[in-house]
Amino acid sequence: MGIISKILGVVLTASGALILTHAMDPNVGSLSFVLFVVGLLVMSVGFGLLTAGKQKKEVKASLPTVTEIRCNGCDFKEIRDYEKGDYILKPLEMKCPKCSGKMTIEGVYVVREEPDKDRF
Ligand SMILES: [Zn+2]
Repeated sequence: MGIISKILGVVLTASGALILTHAMDPNVGSLSFVLFVVGLLVMSVGFGLLTAGKQKKEVKASLPTVTEIRCNGCDFKEIRDYEKGDYILKPLEMKCPKCSGKMTIEGVYVVREEPDKDRF
């Protein structure tokens, strides 16, 4: 759905620009004002579709962040929700459930719900 509205937005913006170019043509004569208005309308609808897609992207940018914790003593790994103050290589109070060793934050990741395939 996002891809379709984006393509539609691009097509409408492009055809609006084409209509506007036609409106500038002196041979069009009295129709030029009508063409100009129609071109502007089509372009604004196209831009609206493109902007609507962008707004959705911005909401998705604030998606859940997770923290990957790793034990220093064994190969135990855990992924939990990101907490304020988490940073990579931060030593943690909690102990490893397997060997009671010290735990360190190994990574902080933003979870993406969808792959980047519809970006282009
Ligand atoms: Zn351990």
